[in-house]
Amino acid sequence: MNEPIYKKVAPPEGYSAPGVYATTLDKLVGLARANSIWPLPFATSCCGIEFMATMAAHYDLGRFGAERLSFSPRQADLLMVMGTIAKKMAPIVQQVYEQMAEPRWVLAVGACASSGGIFDTYSVLQGIDRVVPVDVYVPGCPPRPEQIIDGVMKIQDLIKSETLRRRYSPEYRSLLEKYGIQPIN
Ligand code: SF4
Repeated sequence: MNEPIYKKVAPPEGYSAPGVYATTLDKLVGLARANSIWPLPFATSCCGIEFMATMAAHYDLGRFGAERLSFSPRQADLLMVMGTIAKKMAPIVQQVYEQMAEPRWVLAVGACASSGGIFDTYSVLQGIDRVVPVDVYVPGCPPRPEQIIDGVMKIQDLIKSETLRRRYSPEYRSLLEKYGIQPIN
């Protein structure tokens, strides 16, 4: 018999016995969140073209079953910044982040978003982590679609292992305060 071509999401770690399965609420919510990511693509230049390839039929990021792109920050939980961010644009990146509801994650795609890339100039922001906290950096100029998919999977791993209380912790609040971002209650 042929193996099914789909892959089931593995259940979180827990206790199982015949007819019984028990795990923690953190793990269950983490599993649900990790498999229902809605990214907001903030694409400004060439890395955005690579993202288009990642979304298209060959690489098909939608194979995860979620990844419904949102162009409204209010219905997105993963900010994907792809491309060169000019200093003039930096407050806009931060504003978009602020408009997203918690929990929210940030993926810096490519050298420009991660560090300014080859544009070590007066006008280019030397990495978006100057204005928003970044969870995962994807290297490359541009990164291949496989790398972008790998970055999304790293975000999924982070989400699965995050406790429900992390966003209310003093460490998280002070991280946001460093960026001048008001924590959401
Ligand atoms: S990292 Fe390279 S490919 Fe990506 S936006 Fe910058 S210059 Fe373009």
